[in-house]
Amino acid sequence: MEHQSAIAYGNKFLNGYLGRDGSGTGWGKKWDFIVVHESGHEWFGNNITAKDIADMWIHESFTNYSEALFIEYFYGKEAAQEYIYGNRRGILNDKPNPTGPYQRK
Ligand SMILES: [Zn+2]
Repeated sequence: MEHQSAIAYGNKFLNGYLGRDGSGTGWGKKWDFIVVHESGHEWFGNNITAKDIADMWIHESFTNYSEALFIEYFYGKEAAQEYIYGNRRGILNDKPNPTGPYQRK
């Protein structure tokens, strides 16, 4: 996880996320998802944030964007776009928004 004072790693030193590529494009299996994703959180320091943990999607969405930047840097813009489009196929869009229950009213 991305906590600066309590680093945790659980990806078994595999590429992708536990060996899987959520994008289904193959680009996500060329690198260790946890290392890149959690480094993405560190990169912007979660400074783009939300008032309530229910909106954690803001952290995760921006960090997902940082994964695409990583791919673009190492494999090119077309690869990054394929990765993003691939991940988008996994979004069911079956709820009006991705928020959780709000703690603050
Ligand atoms: Zn994350």
